Amino acid sequence: HRLVGGDADQEERTVEAALRPRTLAEFVGQERLREQLSLVLDAARARGRSADHILLSGPPGLGKTTLAMIVAAEMGVPLRITSGPAIQHAGDLAAILSSVNEGDVLFFDEIHRMARPAEEMLYTAMEDFRVDVVVGKGPGATAIPLDLPHFTMVGATTRTGLLPGPLRDRFGFTGHLELYEPAELELVLRRSAGLLDVELKGDGTGEIAGRSRGTPRIANRLLRRVRDFAEVRGNGVITGDVARAALKVFAVDELGLDRLDRAVLTALCKSFGGGPVGLGTLAVAVGEERETVEEVAEPFLVRAGLLMRTPRGRVATPAAWTHLGLAVPAQTAF
Ligand code: ADP
Repeated sequence: HRLVGGDADQEERTVEAALRPRTLAEFVGQERLREQLSLVLDAARARGRSADHILLSGPPGLGKTTLAMIVAAEMGVPLRITSGPAIQHAGDLAAILSSVNEGDVLFFDEIHRMARPAEEMLYTAMEDFRVDVVVGKGPGATAIPLDLPHFTMVGATTRTGLLPGPLRDRFGFTGHLELYEPAELELVLRRSAGLLDVELKGDGTGEIAGRSRGTPRIANRLLRRVRDFAEVRGNGVITGDVARAALKVFAVDELGLDRLDRAVLTALCKSFGGGPVGLGTLAVAVGEERETVEEVAEPFLVRAGLLMRTPRGRVATPAAWTHLGLAVPAQTAF
């Protein structure tokens, strides 16, 4: 199961929708990004124009979709949603762009996964608010320019470096979301507990926050599982003891590592003697794409002090061995 995985499934999205902050002021943490966004939006409003295109980067579950919704809400305009994997042909993109109205915010999730053939069209759409629709095939084909209304694109990606330069350049503002500190996750949890009508007591909040991988989505997910436990086995109140017992049942360790985190650390220690090992080799060993290992698992592992990125490759720290319950080798590359 993916109790501490990064991505949301269908059922979870419904609950998430209820817990989403609706305004920048309600959005916890990411102070600098919030201030910058608020300036960008205020300036656009003062000019009476749609805001510049905005690119948000960071690991899953940190609030990119939420911020896109907030941008639309603060500008008082509708939000349209699409994603990179949904755009396989230029025609897919043309269909979406032609349904966008003046001022709309278009949220483009996982924009780095969009098919290459659609890129050119996106460039002109973002820069000149125009698409060239190709009619016919072969020598008789003609491109008919079609003007688009001015819209604001909010792109989301795990890392801006994954985007081609020309695409990155078309965003007027780029913001990066950082993993959240435990104290910030406690604020997220208190807010969610209020909305879900759950009572959090003592160190119950800290216990959940500390195992949430720096990620609000995971904090909210753990809160719901701990609430289940508290309601079934107790009186519904979440204390530190209740949280610890619940998280034990759901096999969430003290650091809140997810399946991929553990797979990466286990491969690193058991298959590669703690490293150094190249990212590509490590990715193959855990059966994931390089990008996923690098952008989804590693930021947290590095922050938790379990993995180091060195010029010669990835290295497990002594804490990684200890966390996996393995003896720290006398000679580590660390
Ligand atoms: P992403 O798009 O980056 O994967 P989302 O915007 O979908 O992440 O956020 C996942 C969940 O986490 C949402 O339900 C939202 O309620 C919650 N969340 C994210 N960031 C915050 C925040 N700063 N404050 C409060 N809740 C947040």
